Amino acid sequence: VRAMASEKDAALAATPPSSEYTPTIFDRIINKEIPSTVVYEDDKVLAFRDIAPQAPVHILIIPKVRDGLTGLSKAEERHFEILGRLLHTAKLVAKQEGLDDGFRIVINDGPKGCQSVYHIHVHLLGGRQMDWPPG
Ligand code: 5GP
Repeated sequence: VRAMASEKDAALAATPPSSEYTPTIFDRIINKEIPSTVVYEDDKVLAFRDIAPQAPVHILIIPKVRDGLTGLSKAEERHFEILGRLLHTAKLVAKQEGLDDGFRIVINDGPKGCQSVYHIHVHLLGGRQMDWPPG
């Protein structure tokens, strides 16, 4: 794998999946085939530290079963429950991480949104003052 200059390069180099069944690196994280630092887990969701943190706290919250949710743009009514769970888990983990003064939630979608992994994920960022607008 070629070293990427930035997350944006990684996102632009990432090929959107050829089908909704194309596996991603997150499947291997869910299966514990590759290690990650898990901060929360239940039967539906997994939360683990981002390998390239953009803030002192940077955690990814993902559904264990993707069910066609390669990204938010693929959301359907059947996903309402898991979408709610992902955000609720972000809140639980923010509390667990002591982010009582605030935090940032991000969902990147598609090449223009800088998405690089096509398994929906919520970024939880905190531990520093965030800027607005985002880059
Ligand atoms: P995206 O750019 O798709 O919104 O976010 C994907 C995120 O996954 C990036 O922030 C990237 O650093 C993270 N990531 C990619 N591969 C791995 C990995 O193998 N382990 C962990 N913990 N994070 C990863």
